[in-house]
Amino acid sequence: MFDHYVPDPALYCPACGDELSGWQGKDGPCGLLVWSQGSPAAGDHAEGEESKLSPAHRDRFRLPPVFRIYTDDEHDHWIEAQCLAPDGVWRATEIVEVREIRTGKVRPVRPAG
Ligand SMILES: [Zn+2]
Repeated sequence: MFDHYVPDPALYCPACGDELSGWQGKDGPCGLLVWSQGSPAAGDHAEGEESKLSPAHRDRFRLPPVFRIYTDDEHDHWIEAQCLAPDGVWRATEIVEVREIRTGKVRPVRPAG
């Protein structure tokens, strides 16, 4: 299992510029929750997936201070990002790796800014 993650602002693939969505990660509670950057508590399950946790139950989950998320785009790029939640609230996201899915080749990621 995993959780869904929604960075804010949205991130773009450093290799092709695609807007990235569909982020997943296994460093949180892995309850198919939906985490949004800047929100302390997780949101509902994604539509169509299992039953919902009660809000009270859901609110007990927090993210670890550092966690990784990943996604892929329509140009066969696999992207990993490192996220920071120093106070349990997701505050920052930085893409740390881009890989060509077909070849496994890792592309260098330019530092942000
Ligand atoms: Zn791409």
